Amino acid sequence: MRKQVIPGSFSLMKKMNISLILNTIREKGCVSRAEIAKITGLTPATVTNITAELIKYKLILEAERGQSNGGRKPVMLRINSQGYYVIGIYIGSKGVEIIVANLNSDIIYSDNLNIDSSIPSEVILDGIKKKISRWMNINKGKQILGIGVGIHGLVQSRDGISIYGPNLGWENVPVKDTLESALKVPVFIDNDVRTMTLGESWFGLAKDITNFIFIYVGYGIGGSIVIDNQLYRGISEGAGEIGHTTIECNGPKCSCGNYGCLQALASEKAMVDEVKKLLSDGKKSVIKSWVNDDLCRISPEIVFEAAIKNDDLALTVIKEKARYLGVGIANLINTFNPSLVIINGQITKLGDTIMDCIQQEVNKRSMKYLQNSTNITFSFLGQDAVLKGTVALVLGETFNNPELVYSSKQFKKDCENNKKI
Ligand SMILES: [Zn+2]
Repeated sequence: MRKQVIPGSFSLMKKMNISLILNTIREKGCVSRAEIAKITGLTPATVTNITAELIKYKLILEAERGQSNGGRKPVMLRINSQGYYVIGIYIGSKGVEIIVANLNSDIIYSDNLNIDSSIPSEVILDGIKKKISRWMNINKGKQILGIGVGIHGLVQSRDGISIYGPNLGWENVPVKDTLESALKVPVFIDNDVRTMTLGESWFGLAKDITNFIFIYVGYGIGGSIVIDNQLYRGISEGAGEIGHTTIECNGPKCSCGNYGCLQALASEKAMVDEVKKLLSDGKKSVIKSWVNDDLCRISPEIVFEAAIKNDDLALTVIKEKARYLGVGIANLINTFNPSLVIINGQITKLGDTIMDCIQQEVNKRSMKYLQNSTNITFSFLGQDAVLKGTVALVLGETFNNPELVYSSKQFKKDCENNKKI
């Protein structure tokens, strides 16, 4: 077959083969060269050549010897978790979290910044740059594969722009360019819910799942859809707005302007609003004394806490919200036929109480044949999902475009210093 040559002498064929081998090693954890050849359909010679190169580039290493069927035990290969490090940044509505992790997503350093909408985006990005520069200066020996950034709001991931971050007042902020030009490391960005989905896919419950849906229930409701191992983005990167699907034609008004959206019925905001309304109507609850009759002080945390302590009003409201969530999930099951639906957010604290309500609605409203092939579960990564996801964002991009490592400045420097590499 004639090879298509990409400028920079990295052929498309080679890139695809490297990517295939890297992803196979990642998925299997520990695997021999012979197994890689069998799984990928590549020739043993190609596998030997490429794995030798990946060892040289410190992306994989030879681990312990595996089982043999008689004869010599094969040498097993695995991802070299200490070969490189990844910087992860979560820019949320109220704060920035920064981590440095190895390739297994084990965190070796963490830091944070308090922010709010009154601080200009340039000042926030400057604060992030300073913290990372400081760490990089102290840890010069550690090679950084890239920086992954999860940001709240609408994000144009290809160009690395935060298009619209409503809670921060961000509009068209060039996050990728700003960080890349200052830190000289590749930067990849996505919105926070998609980043969490990647976290689930690489390090959480969806590790071996090719088709799943992730739903985050917070102040709003966000979601994302993975089809055949690929995050489905839609034509203008807007796919997954599960929170704005209509559940009740004449339901309450949503922040998007529509009426009866899932978000207007099942989000934390909807829950708090409902509790406030019932308390104003004179209904009894422990919440009222907890906030000294000041209903403005009611937060989602307080309502969940009351429900955990078996407060009737809090439990009734949360269960109603969970049933609406079940209606939304039933629609998703009928549309996408996923094998897994993962729910994340504080609502999962209520465990089976919530899951039973969701499951009942799903059983009632989705097609029998489809619901039997879908598991619904709560995330175990919880709030860590977004930072794990920032690591996955970098690994995914790098494993699919290995020339990023091959052409890295650090590697070229190593070559000059050590001809053996
Ligand atoms: Zn809406």
